[in-house]
Amino acid sequence: MSVRFTIGAVSDVGMLRDVNQDSYLASGVLAAVADGMGGHRGGEVASQIAVETLVASFTPPTFEQLTGAVKAANAEIIAQAAVAPELHGMGTTLCAIAVIPATNPDAARAAGVAEHLLGIVNVGDSRLYRLYDGALEQLTEDHSLVESMVRQGRLTREEADVHPQRNIVTRALGVADLVDVDAFTLAPQANARFLLCSDGLFNEVADEAIATILGSIADPDEAAQALVVAANGNGGRDNITTLVVDVAVEAAAADTNADITDPTIDEAPPPPVTMGGAAGEPLPDFGSGTRGDAAAPASAAESAGGAMDAPDAPKRRWWRRS
Ligand code: MG
Repeated sequence: MSVRFTIGAVSDVGMLRDVNQDSYLASGVLAAVADGMGGHRGGEVASQIAVETLVASFTPPTFEQLTGAVKAANAEIIAQAAVAPELHGMGTTLCAIAVIPATNPDAARAAGVAEHLLGIVNVGDSRLYRLYDGALEQLTEDHSLVESMVRQGRLTREEADVHPQRNIVTRALGVADLVDVDAFTLAPQANARFLLCSDGLFNEVADEAIATILGSIADPDEAAQALVVAANGNGGRDNITTLVVDVAVEAAAADTNADITDPTIDEAPPPPVTMGGAAGEPLPDFGSGTRGDAAAPASAAESAGGAMDAPDAPKRRWWRRS
């Protein structure tokens, strides 16, 4: 039994911004979204480095290496920022889902279940959702100031959704040599649909509306496009990237004569795609200068200062985006 993704992907600059700092990649075995941040052209460079390094480093395509590839992306962003002063301080989120070998593929094969699992990694506040049996569930945890305050009971979920500081992330790639990566696995379910997205979607479109679109539009490309249209219809204040990932668990023809000692995935993912905007949007002119809406990273004290209480014992710098 093999596991494959069919992905509909759209990345859009949105209604207000000049540049799309999101990047994504989509293949039959790996999907990722990265939401860059940083002045000048740092944001789009950081997100592009993240997806390029992820796909290049995800070999062998194991769970351990999926996490390793995220750490490699972090190191690459830091290395490139160190030699390019105009990119100093760039960073990005990265959220990805990949097909990985099951822990015991021989046993899985014998049991007639899928020989692969889904591996998920996340740093920052891009999100992975799952729609199954009509219910939408956020699978990743946001690494954001408001999420930590919700967990501490200091904000309600509803307050967090509209909080003016909801764009402050508490983890990102490019910030420090060591990065904490959330990583977990899921058993693949036939007919499960996943959504990878940047915050430009969920800050504009409520979960209920996201669920309705995902549940009513079968074609993943059309569903991804409809989500972007909904976000732009509600303001489109940020870049919007949506990847609708349909999972097929199928008895592949190759399974009947497969080398049962080798469960590795034999398809290398294609190169990543970095979007400068969907629907005919031209690529941005990277030489056009500093963007006014891309702030440099803020220290914890600056980010939390004055208007609100700081959460307990912050351990990292926070980044204010946009
Ligand atoms: Mg964003």
